[in-house]
Amino acid sequence: MTARVLIVDDIPANVRLLQAKLEADYYDVITAGNGQAGIETAIEEQPDIILLDVMMPGVDGYEVCRQLKHHPETRHIPIILLTALDGREDRLSGLEAGADDFLTKPVDDIILMARLKALVRLKQMVDDLRQREASSRRAGLSGEDLYNRQISATGNVLILDDNERQGERLMLQLGHDHRCAYVTDPAEGLRIAAGRVDLVVLNMTAKAFDPLRWVAQLRSSEPTRHRPVLGIYNPDDRKALLKALDLGVNDVAPKPLDMQELLARAKTQIRRKRYSDFLRDSLDRSLEMAVTDGLTGLNNRRFLDHQLSLALSRHNRGGQPCSVLLLDIDFFKRVNDTYGHDAGDEVIKEFARRLSLNVRAIDLPCRFGGEEFVVLMPETESVDAGHIAERVRQQVADAPFILSDGRQLNVTVSVGVATSQGLGDSPESLLKRADEGVYEAKSSGRNRVVIKAAA
Ligand code: GH3
Ligand code: MG
Ligand code: MG
Repeated sequence: MTARVLIVDDIPANVRLLQAKLEADYYDVITAGNGQAGIETAIEEQPDIILLDVMMPGVDGYEVCRQLKHHPETRHIPIILLTALDGREDRLSGLEAGADDFLTKPVDDIILMARLKALVRLKQMVDDLRQREASSRRAGLSGEDLYNRQISATGNVLILDDNERQGERLMLQLGHDHRCAYVTDPAEGLRIAAGRVDLVVLNMTAKAFDPLRWVAQLRSSEPTRHRPVLGIYNPDDRKALLKALDLGVNDVAPKPLDMQELLARAKTQIRRKRYSDFLRDSLDRSLEMAVTDGLTGLNNRRFLDHQLSLALSRHNRGGQPCSVLLLDIDFFKRVNDTYGHDAGDEVIKEFARRLSLNVRAIDLPCRFGGEEFVVLMPETESVDAGHIAERVRQQVADAPFILSDGRQLNVTVSVGVATSQGLGDSPESLLKRADEGVYEAKSSGRNRVVIKAAA
């Protein structure tokens, strides 16, 4: 598993050392020599993970962390803070600033690699969701408002611990901010974890059951596979720690327990869980509000409207103009009247197929409604749009449409072409010009293309 790691540190020797270690493990490394550069590089380069020095002149590591966790383009990137200080305050400030983990220098290589691997694995899962969420956002569904409303750091926490004194203490502390359930029985723990649980806090030093086996069981069953686990571990037992991280324990807190640190780590885990829940939900919502026309499989008008305003604003900001084709099948009522409504539907489908085959990959053919279609052509001048329109017209007129019962009929289409004129042009005005083109094509005999210039 390879990944891109951004190292942010003001001391070049530190950067070189870490870089060499990571590159030896086949990570792809980019570097930044101060906080501000770190922020810019992260936004620009979108690394998979960030190793961030705390002590830097100017913008320090906490501030970098805060800003990156606030920025919509970088908040999903895991951050590991590195510092020479082993102070409790620093650790807490780091976690409060949104850091995903905290390692002290000199860095233990094996622990670093294990943490990197775990965070990269998680990041890849979130990336996949983000990508799908982004494509639904392009379809006109807003992400940011929903995000701000839904991400809270309060959640349902399951505590599994055979040590009752510690379990009750955890229950008391976590109970201030979260709804908690505390169990000592691993089987009951698994059952509860299958429900609405945002975080499992697990005593990894438990004697009454095998905590690592329990994590393996959790990870192997579908409903509990993605439950975040925060493990409490014994820092002297490195082997168990590495095994736990390898099994997919998401975060760990060492014994003796620092409650405030544990609370901060719990909050980070819950916030991250909420983020992936949010991505999943908004994906589901977007599937509901289909952007696809059921009959033809083309995109629908809702999708077109959104894409068209994007294309126009790109032109207005100095980009290339876009063009639209408006296509209206000629005498379509006659098709319905002569062959029946189902035959009409077949003609619409076959028309959509020919349309899709004859526009370019960057074009966006949509069913506008009824027997009307629109093709959005990004970065296209009217001459080129006219050529493509003519090709579509021919491909429709030149070969008869064959119905499923074998009957054949000739179909033609009238096409209006319009091209964006820059400022002042709206989706409505552009489509209106294309519609005027269709009108002219119809009144001058149908089965033709009319290119409309701006008035
Ligand atoms: P022209 O465009 O050449 O002026 O004539 P036309 O007959 O195509 O014009 P008009 O827009 O008046 O008729 C379109 C017809 O398309 C009317 C409507 O019943 C039919 N129609 C709209 N949507 C569908 C559909 O989904 N399936 C079928 N079978 N018919 C549809
Ligand atoms: Mg019509
Ligand atoms: Mg028509």
